Amino acid sequence: MRRILFILFGIIALGGLGYLYNHSHPSVGKINTASVATSTDGTVSVADLHSDYNSSSSTEKARILIVPGHEPNYGGAQFGSIYERNLVVEIGQDLQQYLQTNSNDQVFITRDTQSWNPTFTDYFKNNWNAIIAWEKISRQNESALASLGTQTAPPVNHNSAPINVALRLFGINKWANENSIDLMIHLHLNDYPSHSSKVAGKYSGLAIYIPAQQYANNPTTKAIAYAVFKRLSLYNPISNLPAESAGIIDDPELIAVGVGNSADAASMLIEYDYVYQPQFVNPKVRNLALKDLAYQTYLGLEDFFTKNTNVSITFSYNPTSLYAWKAPVTGKNSNPEDIYALQTALLMDGDYPPKGKSKNDCPHSGTFGSCTSAALLTFQNKNGITGEGVGGLKTFNLLSKIYAQN
Ligand SMILES: [Zn+2]
Repeated sequence: MRRILFILFGIIALGGLGYLYNHSHPSVGKINTASVATSTDGTVSVADLHSDYNSSSSTEKARILIVPGHEPNYGGAQFGSIYERNLVVEIGQDLQQYLQTNSNDQVFITRDTQSWNPTFTDYFKNNWNAIIAWEKISRQNESALASLGTQTAPPVNHNSAPINVALRLFGINKWANENSIDLMIHLHLNDYPSHSSKVAGKYSGLAIYIPAQQYANNPTTKAIAYAVFKRLSLYNPISNLPAESAGIIDDPELIAVGVGNSADAASMLIEYDYVYQPQFVNPKVRNLALKDLAYQTYLGLEDFFTKNTNVSITFSYNPTSLYAWKAPVTGKNSNPEDIYALQTALLMDGDYPPKGKSKNDCPHSGTFGSCTSAALLTFQNKNGITGEGVGGLKTFNLLSKIYAQN
């Protein structure tokens, strides 16, 4: 018997392990059936991806499917009036735009905030029985392959998805197989149970889920996830939920990353940060913060495709005006986008977070507080600027000169 299937999205706490539960990756319980052979012929390798990306043929490109987590108007984490399922669409659309600036990429996205991309609406409608069959085969593979993996249980237990949601995820994998997708990127904001949807929780930071090593798409996904993780973790904290502290996490049960070899493509699921973080809650900085996450993801993918390993906190980070401030920051009442830009510059300079604090203590938030003022003071001391405090022009002129490229 399948466990679950009827549990709605949202936050559930189970047993004494409540804190280990993050919110919402759909997974479905194992079924016990005879094992079946596994075909991995179509699995996309790192070499395949580099070859597609570098091909001079106009038809061969790196084909990337962006999957904003959850569904139009359904599921995902919520904090106050903030819905994960909507914010991840914004990240997805920004990421699509960045990727489309590179003619070596061909980019698809599954949905917007209101509806599925018609391609997927039609695909689900016309192939539902085949999707059900694909789920069954994938489940059999999952059981058959379990003994080959060192990671047989998910490190973080995920909420289970209603059956139709799970099937649509299998449907996306099946569509991706049939349409020669090389890479799928599932976008999420995290949450965990046992805190109110009105009070910010205690965890923060980034985690990327990849298929467990018994699945054929593990090596390729891992290589891509490392490149993206390297970029994102320069500017963002790594999750301090104990089970996510490795940052990149093998998972044997997530449908999104291709449970049971259901996906030929590499597939990773990015939990960018927890949904209640200030940069998502504050509408005056949210768009910039989401765009920044998309941009860093794009840079990580570019690093992978171009085999760039020379990644540092300043390396080619600022070809856009994302981080230019319009006016000197004078304190907590300054424009949050300007505060965000200032924090970015201070991050690049190595002053933020200030000594003794972590990125989890001092998020890249657009909120001015003790982290930002301490970092600003460090910058001033380092550069011999005295007597001007917050909002001083000498400080901002120097920071602008070094970091606020346009
Ligand atoms: Zn999610």
